Amino acid sequence: MLYTSTRDKSVKVTSAEAIAHGISKEGGLFVPAELPKITPEFIASLVGKDYISRCEKVLSLFLTDYTAEEISYCVGGAYAKGKFSSEKIAPVKKIAEGKNILELWCGPTCAFKDMALQLLPYLLTVAAKKTVSDKTIVILVATSGDTGKAALEGFKDVDRTKIMVFYPNDGVSPMQKLQMTTQEGNNVGVCAIDGNFDDAQSGVKAIFTDPAVAEKLEKNNMMFSSANSINWGRLVPQIVYYISAYCDLIENGSIKNGDEINIVVPTGNFGNILAAYYAKQMGVPVKKLICASNANNVLTDFFESGKYDKNRKFYTTESPSMDILISSNLERLLFHLCGEDDALIRDWMKSLSEKGEYEVNECVKKQIFDLFEAGCCNDEETNRTIAETFKNGYLLDTHTAVAVKVYNDYVKKTGDKTQTIIASTANPYKFSAAVLKSIDSKDNSGADEFEQVELLIKESGVPCPPQLSSLRGKEPRFTECCSKKDMAKAVYTMLGI
Ligand SMILES: *Cc1c(COP(=O)(O)O)cnc(C)c1O
Repeated sequence: MLYTSTRDKSVKVTSAEAIAHGISKEGGLFVPAELPKITPEFIASLVGKDYISRCEKVLSLFLTDYTAEEISYCVGGAYAKGKFSSEKIAPVKKIAEGKNILELWCGPTCAFKDMALQLLPYLLTVAAKKTVSDKTIVILVATSGDTGKAALEGFKDVDRTKIMVFYPNDGVSPMQKLQMTTQEGNNVGVCAIDGNFDDAQSGVKAIFTDPAVAEKLEKNNMMFSSANSINWGRLVPQIVYYISAYCDLIENGSIKNGDEINIVVPTGNFGNILAAYYAKQMGVPVKKLICASNANNVLTDFFESGKYDKNRKFYTTESPSMDILISSNLERLLFHLCGEDDALIRDWMKSLSEKGEYEVNECVKKQIFDLFEAGCCNDEETNRTIAETFKNGYLLDTHTAVAVKVYNDYVKKTGDKTQTIIASTANPYKFSAAVLKSIDSKDNSGADEFEQVELLIKESGVPCPPQLSSLRGKEPRFTECCSKKDMAKAVYTMLGI
């Protein structure tokens, strides 16, 4: 199975090359040249199996240049006993009839990013051995909060890799910041930037595609790769958990093999929901993909009008990992829907970078209206949804609450009773202050982060994961903040070149 680029269809690479390089030379994203299909029999063969077996089977459809032993080594390492707090790795919890929460935050950093970023370092180091052998791989990450920590944790002290993370100084939660600035490991760097996530992301993209930077790395026997969700190695592990969740719904009797489900995803960079789209296209019976946004609702408007317009006010919200106006992975969806017309994608992406907007053609519009539902909600509605859902016995984080709210609205509008999977993307203790405020009528705004954690434990009765509570009192290791134009310099300093 080969991969091509969204901006140049003549590109044909193996999965190892796609994963090792992260992004195609001309700036396009790697996508499967042809998507593998799964049958009801394939799904039946996964029912009753554990997560690792399911993951091996699905990965082997996509990574055909990896041997079975290599896949087994990667998956076994990523989801080894003890790394995730649930033996099921990604458990499905029913919170009301038809409403199933897919808990994707049982990993080391308590966000769904662990699902992919525990696996990516394995996929990448195996890929490097196959393709670029002795080079040191330099991972550059722009993060809206959760990717940074999950990538640092995945890559720390991994041989022949170095990792540098940039985060928006005022755009992450105190817990997220502390998780990153206290990161351990001998191959890691962390730097704040003056700007928002889109600045961090476009800064990283600019460094990636700058030939002068590439040359300097080459001289030092290094090469860049990406741990952002533009890397195919980030997306493929995410397809697995949607297939796995479908199997779990069969296992617990909620559906029969072949029944349709809906999938709701709180969306930022469009990686997680794109993985759900791929699962659908492969053959998982999905009725609607429901895209949930916070006040940064550029995608809601897009799925209603077919026009992408990022020229709007940027809001800093209580769901910071979704504070994004340029959803990079949308490019992959458009490539598939427009008949893989790379010239058209180049035009639209050029228009996006020059004018901040583009409008897709009628053919793509028809398909997105059919495949997707979209909705958004503000912080106040998010808080109210957390309060209501908590009254019914389940504590949501702010991101998942956006998804639950948008799903509730969808059910109200359509009356659709189809069994639905709601992707839950973070543990509530990553955003303690906002979650506490939602369920407690007292004003706790004077309390510091860990006092909020204490109060939330008392108020909710839900335990705080040890990997978060143990950060209390830990001294930050990385305190630098640079401007967008100095990001390349910060990278050189970290690499010592
Ligand atoms: C990254 C993240 C999201 C958004 O996921 P995308 O794949 O970027 O759409 C949502 N919620 C949380 C908690 C996240 O960390």
